[in-house]
Amino acid sequence: MAKQAQLHCSFCNRSREEVKILIAGQEGHICENCVEHAQEIIAQELYQKQEDKTSQYRFTIKKPNEIKTFLDQYIIGQDEAKKVLSVAVYNHFKRIGQKQSVTDDVEIEKSNIIMVGETGTGKTLLAKTIAKLLNVPFAIVDATVFTEAGYVGEDVESMLTRLLQNCNYDVTAAEKGIVYVDEIDKIARKGDNPSITRDVSGEGVQQGLLKMLEGTEVLVPPQGGRKHPEQKMIKLNTQNILFICGGAFDGVDKVIARRINTNAIGFSVNKDEQEMQRKNLLQFINAQDLKSFGLIPELLGRLPVVTHLEPLDEETLRSILTEPKNSLMKQYNKLFELEGIKLTVDENVLNFMVKKAMEYKLGARGLRSICESILTDAMFTLPGTDTKEFHLSLEYAEQQFGRSRLNLLKVA
Ligand code: ADP
Repeated sequence: MAKQAQLHCSFCNRSREEVKILIAGQEGHICENCVEHAQEIIAQELYQKQEDKTSQYRFTIKKPNEIKTFLDQYIIGQDEAKKVLSVAVYNHFKRIGQKQSVTDDVEIEKSNIIMVGETGTGKTLLAKTIAKLLNVPFAIVDATVFTEAGYVGEDVESMLTRLLQNCNYDVTAAEKGIVYVDEIDKIARKGDNPSITRDVSGEGVQQGLLKMLEGTEVLVPPQGGRKHPEQKMIKLNTQNILFICGGAFDGVDKVIARRINTNAIGFSVNKDEQEMQRKNLLQFINAQDLKSFGLIPELLGRLPVVTHLEPLDEETLRSILTEPKNSLMKQYNKLFELEGIKLTVDENVLNFMVKKAMEYKLGARGLRSICESILTDAMFTLPGTDTKEFHLSLEYAEQQFGRSRLNLLKVA
């Protein structure tokens, strides 16, 4: 007993009575306060060092077919885009590897990528999934927030801020990261086609982007936004950063049609046929079409890999609901399971959700809001009750959806 009373923390000297937990070591003890404090010191030290050795990022090169197989687990369809991306990413990282042991004059150029496809077809998901597989820092940025220096808006460099923030300012890791630039089509310079979105500072932003895509040393404002003279900048080399750009490029189908000398989509054709034609035309997309759309040739020169994504049909949407590794239905099953409730869903409920997503033109992104509108009530009332099973029938789904705000949208 007497011995017990003498116990104290070997670091802060607090006695057993003054602390909650005292962990015994070979020759001493440590209390919970000192463990916490030590943790803080470790975090700070690691943050300051930020060397490869301590980095949480250890990217591993994967073979193109391994990349594609991984993508298949999360993304339905889009085989062409997956294949092109897998090869481009593989070559990109091979290029990084080659740089260190270069013995000949052949220098592999960067294979930045541009993906063209309607919104919600999986462009961001593809880029995000690749970054996850390779374990490299990743950032999604929106091209429309950037403006040419001197205008209100963010400097192009601040997209690298996002990358740095996402990896806790681990500069070495960030220099091998992936940046997904969304809505690249919105910075197209004014074209002949009046339907193309105009952006007065588009070309200036393209110029700014060009330098970064080429690979250069950039001074990045640590907190983003506009640069100002007193700010301490972080130097980042973009030579090994892979840029993946994506955009819907609305109206580019007409440009392709003109080029390949087929009839542009006419107004006389019905909607389904228009969709089919559009789908078929996108597969012929090349840099020349993007130039006609308003991207400057220099920028396109730095985005040598062009690929397209197909619009999602009913069958694909149906698969998206259940097949991907973290599909929506799997997620809801899990949520219910955590409550101790077994969720069962009628097959025709899934078809109903897909039908609504198509009808309301919500695409894959809309599937989630449809699921929410149907299941929110159950997720609100069931927790805390002794329900062990919840069956989602078509009748219930229709009723819930009918009451939801989504449905009101249609009426308006
Ligand atoms: P985009 O970048 O083309 O606008 P996203 O990648 O953001 O589209 O897709 C939105 C969401 O839709 C994704 O988070 C995903 O849940 C779903 N989704 C879209 N396309 C697919 C697909 N082909 N396979 C699986 N899920 C998809």
